[in-house]
Amino acid sequence: MMREIEEVLNKVRATSEHQPIFLQAIQEVFESIEPAVSRHPQYIKHGILERMVEPERTIIFRVPWVDDQGRIRVNRGFRIEMNSAIGPYKGGLRFHPSVNSGILKFLAFEQTFKNALTTLPMGGGKGGADFDPKGKSDLEVMRFCQSFMTELFRHIGPDTDVPAGDIGVGGREIGYLFGQYKRIKNEFSGALTGKGPNWGGSLIRPEATGYGAVYFAQEMLNGRGDSLRGKVCAVSGSGNVAQYTIEKLNHLGARPVTLSDSDGFIYDRDGINPEKLAWVIGLKEVRRGRIREYAEHFKAEFFPGKRPWGVDCDCAFPSATQNELGSDDARILLRNGCGLISEGANMPSEPDAVRQFIETKICYGPGKAANAGGVAISGLEMSQNSLHYSWTREEVERRLQEIMHSIYAAASSTAAEYGQPTNLVMGANIAGFVKVADAMIAQGVV
Ligand code: NDP
Repeated sequence: MMREIEEVLNKVRATSEHQPIFLQAIQEVFESIEPAVSRHPQYIKHGILERMVEPERTIIFRVPWVDDQGRIRVNRGFRIEMNSAIGPYKGGLRFHPSVNSGILKFLAFEQTFKNALTTLPMGGGKGGADFDPKGKSDLEVMRFCQSFMTELFRHIGPDTDVPAGDIGVGGREIGYLFGQYKRIKNEFSGALTGKGPNWGGSLIRPEATGYGAVYFAQEMLNGRGDSLRGKVCAVSGSGNVAQYTIEKLNHLGARPVTLSDSDGFIYDRDGINPEKLAWVIGLKEVRRGRIREYAEHFKAEFFPGKRPWGVDCDCAFPSATQNELGSDDARILLRNGCGLISEGANMPSEPDAVRQFIETKICYGPGKAANAGGVAISGLEMSQNSLHYSWTREEVERRLQEIMHSIYAAASSTAAEYGQPTNLVMGANIAGFVKVADAMIAQGVV
C-alpha cells in the first residue's frame, strides 16, 4: 500500500483504537481507491484522505425521557456531520442499543461515497441513539423522539442536514420526530425524509432501498446476459429493507425463501409470496412481533440463533446489519453455487467474505452502491419538498430505476477503467471518492 495511505491509516488506528468498525470501513475504501490516488497525486497534495476521515462536526447529547412507569430514563443521542462537499449532510438515524460514535462514524463515512454515487447533490451524515424501541409502547417511543428532536432540531434543516430512517427508525419514528421539529421551528419544511405520503413524503420512499437492491442485482445479472427470473434468493433481516427486497423479487419472478431477525431465521422452501409478505409486514410494523411466528403460522422451518447463509440459493441479499456475513458464510454460499450478493444492509460482509466474492468474480454489489436507492429517493423527497409538489409513484419508480442503472454503470465503467471490470467494490469506491475529492479541492482547505 502507498506510504501516504498507510500513514493516514496509522493515524486513524492510533486515534480510533476503540472504534474498530470505523477503521474497517476506512481500510476497505482506502485499499480499493489506491490505484486512483497513485494515478492522481493531487489527492495526497491536498490532504484529501486526512480530511475525509475526520467528521466536519460531531454532536453528542443527552436524551432524557419518562417511561410508562413514570421512571426517568436517559439515552445518548448523536449526529455525525461527516462531509458537506457536494451537498447538505444526508443520512439516516439509527435507534439500537449498539449505537455509539464508532458505528455512526463508519456509517457516515460510507454514506458520503454512497450519496456521491446517486448523482444527486447530497453530503454524508448519520445519527441516532442507543435507545432500543423494541418492547417500548408507542407513547414511550413518542416521548423519546420528542426529547431527541428537542436537541437535534438546532443542528438540522432542509439546506443544512436532512436525517432519515435506518435500523429502529421507520415511519412511526419519523412522524414523531417531524411533529416535534415542526412544532419547535414553526415551519413545515423538508428537514427529514421518509415522511408519510400525505405530509411531505415521497411515494416509493419506504420501498426504495429494497427495490433498489433488487434493481442493482438485475443490472449485475443483465451485464452477464442473465436475469432474476426463477432464482432462489436468501434474504436476511425482516425490517424495511428486507420486506421490500422480497416484494420486488416477487415482482421480477424470483423466489425469496428466507427472512431473519436477531433471534434466528425462517426458511420457506415454497417461497415468501405476496400474501405471506403482507402478513410479515403486519407482524413487524403493526404487531411488532418476532419472525419465528412466521414458522408457526405458515408451517415453515425456524432456525434459532442462526443466519440464513447455509440454505441452497442462487442469490443472497444481506439486509439486516453490519458484519452479518462472515468468512465461513461466504465459503458456504459459494460452495452451494450462490452467484450473486446484493447488499441491502451497510457493510454486512466481513472483509474476508468481500475478498472471496471479489476473487471468485461472482456478481457482488457492495452496500454503498446496491442500497443507495433509499437515499436517492430521499434526495428526490427533498426536491419535491422544495418544489412544494409530489411526483406520481410511476415517476419516482422510473427515476429510481434510472439512478440504480447509473450507479451500476459508474461502478462498472470505473472498475473497467482500472483494469478489474468485475470488481464493483473498487469501481463504486473510486467513482464516489473522486466526486467528493474533486469538490473538496475546488472549495479549498475548509
Ligand atoms: P429495520 O429496523 O427496519 O430492520 C432491521 C432488521 O435487521 C430487523 O429484522 C432486525 O432484527 C435485524 N437486525 C438489526 N440488528 C441486528 C443484529 N445486530 N443482528 C441480527 N439482526 C439484526 O432496519 P432497516 O431495514 O431500515 O435497515 C437494515 C439495514 O439496511 C441496515 O444495515 C441499514 O443501515 C441499511 N440501510 C437502510 C436503509 C433504509 O432506507 N432504511 C438505506 C440504506 C441502508 P431485530 O428486530 O431482531 O433487531
